[in-house]
Amino acid sequence: MSDCLFCKIGRGELGTEFLLETDGIAAFRDIHPQAPTHILVIPKKHIQSLAQLEPEDQTLMGELLLAIRELAEKEGLQDGYRVVVNTGRDGGQSVDHLHFHLLGGRSLQWPPG
Ligand code: AMP
Repeated sequence: MSDCLFCKIGRGELGTEFLLETDGIAAFRDIHPQAPTHILVIPKKHIQSLAQLEPEDQTLMGELLLAIRELAEKEGLQDGYRVVVNTGRDGGQSVDHLHFHLLGGRSLQWPPG
């Protein structure tokens, strides 16, 4: 998906600063942070959303979740954090490339709106 925003970010085409990068994933700060820590973690491979995940993505998703744990530790979120994956229109997904929000650094409310 050459015109996908997060594909471009993953390829380093927009000069985005990565907090963590491997061959498969990248993590960067959300441009409109909703909490003191608001990081997005993406697979570099174009996957539209959780709804398009395939069994072949299992290892990649494991890597991504472990990266989130590592990032949370680096950010000092020992009191807790939230991981959000908005999926599809009703889920509030606005960028059609799978991404995990890591939010923390303040007390988060529940339920979300
Ligand atoms: P969602 O609404 O779950 O699809 O989340 C998309 C997120 O991407 C939003 O929190 C946006 O603020 C964020 N975002 C959009 N463009 C950029 C960008 N260029 N760099 C970093 N974050 C972005």
